[in-house]
Amino acid sequence: MTASPGGRRVVLDAGEAEGSSMTTYDADLRAILGEDFTASFRGELTGPTDDEYDARRAVYNGMIDRRPGLIARCRDVADVMAAVDAARRHDVLVAIRGGGHNGGGLGTCDDGLVIDLSEMRGVRVDPAGRTVRVEGGCTLGNVDQATHAFGLAVPFGIMSTTGVGGLTLGGGLGHLTRRLGYTIDNLLAVDVVLADGRFVTADAEHEPELFWAVRGGGGNFGVVTSFLFRAHPVKDIVGGPTLWPLDRAAEVMRWWDDLIRTAPRELSGFFAFIGVPPGPPFPEELHLETMCGVVWCYTGPPEEAEEIFAPIAAFGPPAFHAVGAMPLPALQTAFDALVPPGLQWYWKADFVDELSDEAIARHVEHARLPTWRSTMHMYPIDGAAHDMEPDATALPYRRARYCQVMTGVDPDAAKAHELVAWTRSYWEAVHPYSAGGAYVNMMMHDEGPERVRASYGGNYERLVAAKRRYDPGNRFRVNQNIEP
Ligand SMILES: Cc1cc2nc3c(=O)[nH]c(=O)nc-3n(C[C@H](O)[C@H](O)[C@H](O)COP(=O)(O)OP(=O)(O)OC[C@H]3O[C@@H](n4cnc5c(N)ncnc54)[C@H](O)[C@@H]3O)c2cc1C
Repeated sequence: MTASPGGRRVVLDAGEAEGSSMTTYDADLRAILGEDFTASFRGELTGPTDDEYDARRAVYNGMIDRRPGLIARCRDVADVMAAVDAARRHDVLVAIRGGGHNGGGLGTCDDGLVIDLSEMRGVRVDPAGRTVRVEGGCTLGNVDQATHAFGLAVPFGIMSTTGVGGLTLGGGLGHLTRRLGYTIDNLLAVDVVLADGRFVTADAEHEPELFWAVRGGGGNFGVVTSFLFRAHPVKDIVGGPTLWPLDRAAEVMRWWDDLIRTAPRELSGFFAFIGVPPGPPFPEELHLETMCGVVWCYTGPPEEAEEIFAPIAAFGPPAFHAVGAMPLPALQTAFDALVPPGLQWYWKADFVDELSDEAIARHVEHARLPTWRSTMHMYPIDGAAHDMEPDATALPYRRARYCQVMTGVDPDAAKAHELVAWTRSYWEAVHPYSAGGAYVNMMMHDEGPERVRASYGGNYERLVAAKRRYDPGNRFRVNQNIEP
């Protein structure tokens, strides 16, 4: 047997693999991690020869096809500690899987050990203290469902299937960012299993440097087994999409930018180029048309909603306007079915300080989508996200007004090349008008160390120092990596 567990392929000869007729195959890491680990691990271990292997190694993005040596579905913190410790002792590459939604597939790896948190989905709301304790493998939907029952919400992203783990550690932006800040601005504490196997709690007073680093620094510093968030009284909202014909895109974008600039923080609306989904509630004559639009979310006093939306419903006028009162989780789940797991997915993102007329012209030139599920979103991130200084958390974007992301999406793997080409050429055209760097949560796995460095701007060196302190051997390197 050749075993190179530091991230290289592990190969068994046929004679050594009992019952196997294959000459070589990706070996199960169980043999390397040893019985000390496998016997005490309480969750499930799945290796390449197990029936569940293909289902468990699959991640959200169908473009990603990695073959881990072992998937350790942890049941509790003790399992996470055991897995990290075994990986450390045997020098095995580790990937941490939260919701498995990362576009670049950074919740998995080839050959190494996947510490899979997807069974750790406990949520405990403290309605009196307005906090919520969330286990590391939760999706946004798990938390929304629990908090909504108490009329509370944590500001997360726009789709319920995304993992809290990756989204939070990279920053977290969505419908409530203008009013309540990034997700990390509402993070009060984290429980972390560090690379040396220690379990620590980090908050403003304990391990403050670690607490600073995890608020934007991704999974670089350890496995976060639970998050403690501040929750806010947000229950029902007024929201939904407004769509205009594509030939009015420049005009709509300029109007929307001006509107957001002066809008109360309770109103958010992200601009989008979309292919109209071929089904209700969209009228048949619009199905599969490429259009421009805004998806709104208003969390202010309901009696003021009519006044807020009157000029919006009149601008243009729109081809479609479906804004109404609904529970926040209804908006958060509205797009889930349109982009189920397993689609081809390729995206690139930038933060934007100002939306100039030239930038708008470049956007409009690239708005012809390669497939109807492909899209460009521009999320407002002013308001409360600007209340903190750029060095208050590892995520430095506290002056940018938008985060823009262009995404090529389709079920057909044969279209992958076209999706990548469209995304790259669109991004190249608008990147010169951006704030530089990227949003680490909306990057692919291959954008390179320079782009990671640029994304952290003036906070990068401090992150390197934190990495040297908490993970000097770079055990956690399957991420947008901060090299120690
Ligand atoms: C359909 C879709 C919609 C999205 N919408 C939004 C949005 O509205 N707003 C937004 O901000 N982002 C959004 N994202 C981006 C999302 O934040 C990132 O893809 C994020 O990485 C997903 O986290 P995850 O836990 O699901 O991913 P995973 O693939 O499981 O993990 C991603 C990264 O985070 C690390 N990680 C995950 N959990 C932990 C943990 N508990 N401890 C330590 N490290 C961990 C992993 O190691 C990996 O490096 C969206 C993504 C998709 C695919």
